[in-house]
Amino acid sequence: MAASGTLSTFRLPPLPTIREIIKLFRLHAAKQLSQNFLLDLRLTDKIVRKAGNLTNAYVYEVGPGPGGITRSILNANVAELLVVEKDSRFIPGLQMLSDAAPGKLRIVHGDVLTFKIERAFPEILKRPWEDDPPNVHIIGNLPFSVSTPLIIKWLENVSCRDGPFVYGRTRMTLTFQKEVAERLTANTGSKQRSRLSIMAQYLCNVQHILTIPGQAFVPKPEVDVGVVHFTPLVRPRIEQPFKLVEKVVQNTFQFRRKYCYRGLGMLFPQIHRVESTGKLLELADVDPTLRPSQLSVSHFKSLCDVYRKMCDEDPHLFAYNFREELKQNKSKNQEKEDDKERNGL
Ligand code: SAM
Repeated sequence: MAASGTLSTFRLPPLPTIREIIKLFRLHAAKQLSQNFLLDLRLTDKIVRKAGNLTNAYVYEVGPGPGGITRSILNANVAELLVVEKDSRFIPGLQMLSDAAPGKLRIVHGDVLTFKIERAFPEILKRPWEDDPPNVHIIGNLPFSVSTPLIIKWLENVSCRDGPFVYGRTRMTLTFQKEVAERLTANTGSKQRSRLSIMAQYLCNVQHILTIPGQAFVPKPEVDVGVVHFTPLVRPRIEQPFKLVEKVVQNTFQFRRKYCYRGLGMLFPQIHRVESTGKLLELADVDPTLRPSQLSVSHFKSLCDVYRKMCDEDPHLFAYNFREELKQNKSKNQEKEDDKERNGL
């Protein structure tokens, strides 16, 4: 492990290019695993620069693959880089990088969805939540099918201050399908405004820092790629449990073209839906005829605060799921139909 506070700068020695590494270790991209590699080191340098100042930082890179971003991180004068890669074919190439950067690169053959980064870095890095962010960064270009569920999981971790956020307000720089990057950062009223916009923005300062055209990747994906930077906020804009916020936001956006009262109504059992939805909107001071995309984070804050009070008053409310009620009603109707048929009606 490198001592922090050193002034010398580290550069990797001359190495085979990423393209040569891919040939050498026969690392053809597995299409079914959505492997698209970044070979242009100027571009990987740019991504890493955008992540912020990494001098003496402890960096967690998710899905390093053939190691393009990994090289740029190692050249950014970090204290330590820990990479977690699922596909064993990439380990020998990464090992070559580790040999070229003695004591700096730790390689884990594992799955980012289960890896416990909270146990991997020194305790001394931990900062109180209210302080400046710790010198711990997450960086990664993962398959889109992994990055979207992972960011939801990490946002929940931000809310609970656990997982990668036991160190404090750990910053993340991650790639997404461009459309998802736009949703994550969409402002109130914009076309891309969605569930992800609210979930990310109530917990973090979120910036779409770079768009990379699909042709920069090998093989070229169907879509362009957006790089998004997240810094957890000292004070979340909504101070309610993650699952409660998720429920309110999910229900609201399920009818994204309708007025917001339509989706919000699904938070309540059919028998008193109209009355409870009216009460929620009135107490939260939200215009029922706004569309979901027109609601700001502070509208959601009021809605979540009032819904929380309603849940405290009615202990069954939070567990209510309109899909379950629909299913039960359908089977009741079916039973009635069956009875009619049996009675020859
Ligand atoms: N970061 C490299 C780059 O930019 O060239 C590789 C990008 S490729 C889109 C995604 C990488 O993530 C692959 O190497 C793949 O094997 C790895 N990966 C996919 N799912 C993973 C998981 N659950 N845990 C760890 N690595 C994963």
